[in-house]
Amino acid sequence: MASTLSAISAHPTMQPLSRHVAVIGAGAAGLVAARELRREGHTVVVFERGDQIGGTWVYTPEVESDPIGLHPNRTVVHSSMYQSLRTNLPREIMGFRDYPFAAKEQDGDGDPRRFPGHREVLKYLNGFAKDFGICEIVRFESEVVFVGLVEGGKWKVKSKRKRGEDLEEVYDAVVVCNGHFTEPRVAQIPGISSWKGKQVHSHNYRTPEPFRDQVVILIGSSASAIDISRDIAGVAKEVHIASRSVATETMEKKPGYDNMWLHSMIKSVHEDGSVVFPDGSVVLADIILHCTGYKYHFPFLETNGIVTVDDNRVGPLYKHIFPPALAPSVSFVGIPFKVVPFAMYEFQSKWIAGILSNRIALPSEEEMMEDVQIFYSLQEASGIPKRFTHMIDDYQFEYDDWLASHCGCPVSEEWRQQMWLATFKNARLRGPLYREEWDDHHLILQAQEDFRKYTFNGVGMITDDK
Ligand code: FAD
Repeated sequence: MASTLSAISAHPTMQPLSRHVAVIGAGAAGLVAARELRREGHTVVVFERGDQIGGTWVYTPEVESDPIGLHPNRTVVHSSMYQSLRTNLPREIMGFRDYPFAAKEQDGDGDPRRFPGHREVLKYLNGFAKDFGICEIVRFESEVVFVGLVEGGKWKVKSKRKRGEDLEEVYDAVVVCNGHFTEPRVAQIPGISSWKGKQVHSHNYRTPEPFRDQVVILIGSSASAIDISRDIAGVAKEVHIASRSVATETMEKKPGYDNMWLHSMIKSVHEDGSVVFPDGSVVLADIILHCTGYKYHFPFLETNGIVTVDDNRVGPLYKHIFPPALAPSVSFVGIPFKVVPFAMYEFQSKWIAGILSNRIALPSEEEMMEDVQIFYSLQEASGIPKRFTHMIDDYQFEYDDWLASHCGCPVSEEWRQQMWLATFKNARLRGPLYREEWDDHHLILQAQEDFRKYTFNGVGMITDDK
């Protein structure tokens, strides 16, 4: 992996350019992309189909018309947020680098916990958008329905507006920030088409109440799967977790619970409602809850087959950002997963903004393609399935630092890297208590010391004048 992170040089000879850029989405990625593009001198319009900023962090009790989220004509709800969600990263590492996610003591309705609830994150993003003047450039309730190339390498952007005429405009560049936690992915289960029980995807999970007194099979082992299993164990009759990461012969009780069991992945399901596991155990279940993740989905993007999504690989993308044949006029922020997201979005956005203004050079199309091919070959040689192309947890800070070195900005803070490792170690050690007890106090002090550069008494944030 590391060998593809080779150096490219800045572009000293070309005139700085100000481009007219469309950003799709006003979640964390779109907001920081808009800020960095404007800092670099570009003009920016942010398209947002919702009526407020925040994307994933806008909790709504509303769910989709198809609970498993597969019907192509279902009503789509963007956010997968559930009511009880608290962040799985400590606030010190979660925030943008120069706009710390600090607890504000004077804030009466704030949530000062280190792992706060989702409302606090939305509040933070609203503060960011306000302080950097982003709200004024967001077109709310404007859904981008088509993005396609036109003459001269520019992009036609068609948007459907809730109020007012639909629009068709041309932009020099498009930055795609539409989020990747809306289009459900479900496990293939032998016999599922004749299984009579109810199926729900975690995208449509909000509260435990619908699971009261039910026998639930929950598939998955992600952070959300863990949270939701604990949530529903409080009301369900039985919770059976089926996970690919559990050994085949297992059916063990989850420590600390008298109604939760761990199994390996389901072997088959049957018309009478039974769910059979590889060790031969059988559970008569009411609901299968798929906590099985999401698919990348760009229904508006027309690239004549240049960019495809194949088994959850978006490609080809140079550094998970630029399709070589279309660079730099179309780019993606936020594709990599299992990362510290906001800081990574910031690095990616700085790089995109600098490239669009000619301050930073990209390699040739051929060199970028070659880099992508080497990356794919290395993944294959390491036995990494295609669907994990964008899972960069093992080398995310190396990736961030590569971007930083090409943007001319400081690399990732050492405390941020150490805190990421400490958090996961703590979650393994303390289980559900990791959000309440920790040992990395020295790293918190280092983070707070660092934040003094950006805050006044931990409160006032630096802002742009724009
Ligand atoms: P989103 O937040 O999804 O924003 C995308 C925006 O694009 C939305 O506002 C959407 O309405 C808009 N949009 C989409 N399509 C269009 C279109 N065609 N036209 C116009 N607008 C469009 N991260 C953490 O750091 N810590 C956590 O604890 C954490 N917990 C999470 C828990 C859950 C349940 C989920 C789902 C994610 C969690 N994440 C967490 C990851 C989180 O998704 C990212 O932190 C980040 O918020 C994603 O930002 P984004 O801008 O890429 O996408």
